[in-house]
Amino acid sequence: MELEQIRARIVAAANRAGRDPADVTLIAVSKVQPAQRVQAVLDAGQRVFGENYVQETQEKWPGWRAVFPDVQVHMIGPLQSNKARAAIELFDAIHTLDRMSLAKKLAARAAEGDTLPQLFIQVNTGDEPQKAGILADELPGFLAACRDLGLSPEGLMCIPPEDQDPVPHFRLLRQLAGDNGLPLLSMGMSADFESAIAEGATHVRVGSAIFGARDYG
Ligand SMILES: *Cc1c(COP(=O)(O)O)cnc(C)c1O
Repeated sequence: MELEQIRARIVAAANRAGRDPADVTLIAVSKVQPAQRVQAVLDAGQRVFGENYVQETQEKWPGWRAVFPDVQVHMIGPLQSNKARAAIELFDAIHTLDRMSLAKKLAARAAEGDTLPQLFIQVNTGDEPQKAGILADELPGFLAACRDLGLSPEGLMCIPPEDQDPVPHFRLLRQLAGDNGLPLLSMGMSADFESAIAEGATHVRVGSAIFGARDYG
């Protein structure tokens, strides 16, 4: 199945970059995919999945988690502040911490005793007005504010502009992570995960190359 090929390509890309393949986590992005495709990928041993929508995750994952207790589900889509509480329960990681109001919501839940998922800050590396994320210039200030709230983001995430070479964006993200003492880098999708690994990705988010095209119909 495609999963085996993607795994092999991840190992090869890591080896070419002189990196340990074990340092690259494959997130199988299962949003909108039919249950039988997700089931097949679970049966093939994949345990880390990515989802974009809180409601879809609520409907889909509790059942599978009961069968596969070691499953991890990562939130990679935009997160509304009023769904922060649900997201904390549903996800093992949130890759889309992209604004102060969400940071405050998460910090408030932590103050109430909730254990927060692992956090990645989304960076708008292409400075795109319609795209979520912290601007590169504003990252140090945002990170300091997060830490003041008691949050401990561990990495950065980006979605490069669709019409551009992603590599300069991956390099910028790695630079920003290094400058700010963050060890994790969530970058690279079906079309470019190998170049992301060459640039230091620790988490690649691969959907259609594993599951086939998404049918939004
Ligand atoms: C949907 C999605 C992916 C997966 O995209 P593919 O091109 O299908 O691999 C990765 N990252 C994010 C943020 C997404 O929304």
